[in-house]
Amino acid sequence: SAGEGQNATKENVIQETETVKGHVQTHEFKTETKKLLNIVANSLYSEKEIFVRELVSNAADALEKLRHLQSGGTALSTDHPLEIHISVDQAKNQFIIQDFGVGMTEEEVNENLGTIARSGSKSFLEKLEKEEAGAGSSKDKIIGQFGVGFYSTFMVGNKIKVYTKSATPGSKGYCWTTDGHGSYTLAEADGVSVGTKIVIELKDECKSYANKIEVDSIIKKYSNFVGFPIYLNGQKV
Ligand code: ADP
Ligand code: MG
Repeated sequence: SAGEGQNATKENVIQETETVKGHVQTHEFKTETKKLLNIVANSLYSEKEIFVRELVSNAADALEKLRHLQSGGTALSTDHPLEIHISVDQAKNQFIIQDFGVGMTEEEVNENLGTIARSGSKSFLEKLEKEEAGAGSSKDKIIGQFGVGFYSTFMVGNKIKVYTKSATPGSKGYCWTTDGHGSYTLAEADGVSVGTKIVIELKDECKSYANKIEVDSIIKKYSNFVGFPIYLNGQKV
């Protein structure tokens, strides 16, 4: 019912309770990353909703890695259930996804989110260079063909924040932020859970991804075979 929907939005959205502390470092993205971000952010690709699939698949990978370490007897500093939580808030125009997976160390954040290590993104740029003469529409086709993983968030977000803490005992929490324009910041943060929380401030024209009903149907469309439970505003999808 409509009443239920309102309650869910009020009560069950993921809160952002982390606090950045200490020195905030600013890092330039690598040239090829800048290029990719610029293309993705200005993309006219019509199926922007695939960012949900990409984020859920990264969350599931992180949970799978944690489960693997756990079963191998590695000491880990987490006792959260292996779940994926998504929350959307229309008032704040936000989309948040949180997993209780392996998380990332400082080095891993710089390596994984600051550079295009990923083969999919590399082949995307290579293919694009070959078709450089092409119009926007051909770029968009290429985004669809290759998928751009984490960077797909820049199709829908103005500002992306990633809170992460590695499951390796003794790890610190970090906050990574960017508006996708050339640089990102990285700082230590308090109150970060083991795993990863990604906060997307949605572009005005992407407001629909803060709508619970819309996001529920996108999750159902793409995430049927995810091996971990997914919750949307506190309710199991
Ligand atoms: P891929 O998943 O193909 O490696 P992505 O662009 O989707 O490429 O993600 C890049 C990398 O960032 C991942 O390989 C992983 O190391 C890291 N990463 C992304 N999301 C998460 C997450 N939720 N938890 C831990 N690491 C993550
Ligand atoms: Mg991925």
